[in-house]
Amino acid sequence: MKKNPDPLYSEYSIIIVGAGPAGLIAAIESSVKNVRIIVIEQKFKPAMKLRITGKGSCNITNNAGVEEFIKNFGRNGRFLRQSFNKFFNDDLIGYFNELGVDFELERGGRYYPKSGKAETIADSLLDRLKDLNIEIVTNYKAENIIVNNSGKFEVELSEKDRSADGIDTTLTLKGERILLAAGGRSYPGTGSDGSGFILAEGLGHTIVPIIPALVPLKGKGDIPEQLNGLSIRNCRVKVFSGDKKVGEQFGEMEFRDNEIAGPVILSMSRDIIEKIRNGEKIFLSIDLKPALDYKKLDNRILREASDKKNKSCGDVLRTLLPEKAINLFLELTGIDGNKNPGQFTSHERKKLNNLLKGLIIPVKGSASISKALVTSGGVSLREVDPLTMGSKIIQGLYFAGEVLDIDGETGGFNLQAAFSTGWVAGRSMKESIEKRGEKDE
Ligand SMILES: Cc1cc2nc3c(=O)[nH]c(=O)nc-3n(C[C@H](O)[C@H](O)[C@H](O)COP(=O)(O)OP(=O)(O)OC[C@H]3O[C@@H](n4cnc5c(N)ncnc54)[C@H](O)[C@@H]3O)c2cc1C
Repeated sequence: MKKNPDPLYSEYSIIIVGAGPAGLIAAIESSVKNVRIIVIEQKFKPAMKLRITGKGSCNITNNAGVEEFIKNFGRNGRFLRQSFNKFFNDDLIGYFNELGVDFELERGGRYYPKSGKAETIADSLLDRLKDLNIEIVTNYKAENIIVNNSGKFEVELSEKDRSADGIDTTLTLKGERILLAAGGRSYPGTGSDGSGFILAEGLGHTIVPIIPALVPLKGKGDIPEQLNGLSIRNCRVKVFSGDKKVGEQFGEMEFRDNEIAGPVILSMSRDIIEKIRNGEKIFLSIDLKPALDYKKLDNRILREASDKKNKSCGDVLRTLLPEKAINLFLELTGIDGNKNPGQFTSHERKKLNNLLKGLIIPVKGSASISKALVTSGGVSLREVDPLTMGSKIIQGLYFAGEVLDIDGETGGFNLQAAFSTGWVAGRSMKESIEKRGEKDE
């Protein structure tokens, strides 16, 4: 196996842990002539998660205003106000335009690169790093960070893809500043394995407990299994805690891997998981015919039954439901699918109507964090300055991106947060270098 290049020096002005969107933009924005910056990435290729965003097409941001953005980050959204004020969605689009990337605005205010490829975004950042001579080493994992007696950071690295002789190599780099941009803990195969939280904790920072967000749910009973593979475009999903409605959304959902997924479910998942953890009993009520009230739906069932009078009740259901749902609905209503629609009783119609307007699935929990789109929890925001992304505990330590206790809805909000906080951290580090008149080379 070809050996990766090792770090060129043992001392740097800035060491960035993590070559995701936050780390890469920070590297670019911190760049000062004759100053050594290095980005450490544990995977063989930088920005692995960025490359799979938006199903490979990268929903980079959203055209919503700042207030809407903040709302989309829930309890911790306010922390992002300062970063958004400095570097927001139009700045991000302009930034990439200058790197040669054009965008298209799609449904829901979502921006995607015109190429339709997330790779375009990752590669344009890496090209810029190259132009600026910023060093990036892959296959190196930051294992431990300490602050030595002279106030410098010492980062212990292990080479992840072992050399041909199978010997583990470790080395230590010294740095004036460290940016932790190591991401969260979801999709660990992309490199975001939660090690950023351990590093931050080792440096004295508090980690708000990690839970999956934007994650599929696990239902009780066998309905999710019976509907496996079904996607429903226009449905209204209500969330109940006991008798109380605690959430509602309209849109798309799907059943896959015997779990309940799709945009509507993912975006309500964080609240649902929190409630289940607090001991609440949660169930979903899915309205498969949101455009029809009970009366209109009953008339529709009657009409279909009369149109299909020479066929079967199963055929009537087929006009109302996708094929994958027919057996389940026959089972739950107790209707004999083979009988003639003329034998449809009003009791059966009522049962069918109720089920179409409210298919009930109790929720027992979520899929594992490895299937979550983002991680909720992380470095406590109380210990980070929102103006600079600098640690309030250790001078010279910075944070950006998902390693922080921030997580937003789907729609381009999470990448914007990673880029905005990364941009701010980069500029703050640059300012501190310029203030001290540092030079390495
Ligand atoms: C399938 C999927 C699709 C998504 N789609 C979208 C979307 O379309 N739009 C959107 O806004 N958001 C999307 N997200 C969320 C978004 O990708 C993340 O919020 C964003 O990538 C976070 O950026 P980051 O730079 O903070 O962290 P990451 O992108 O996770 O990057 C962190 C990097 O640090 C490296 N690293 C970690 N620990 C170490 C260590 N100890 N040493 C060295 N390197 C380390 C990792 O290998 C990784 O490359 C999606 C997420 C997933 C999983």
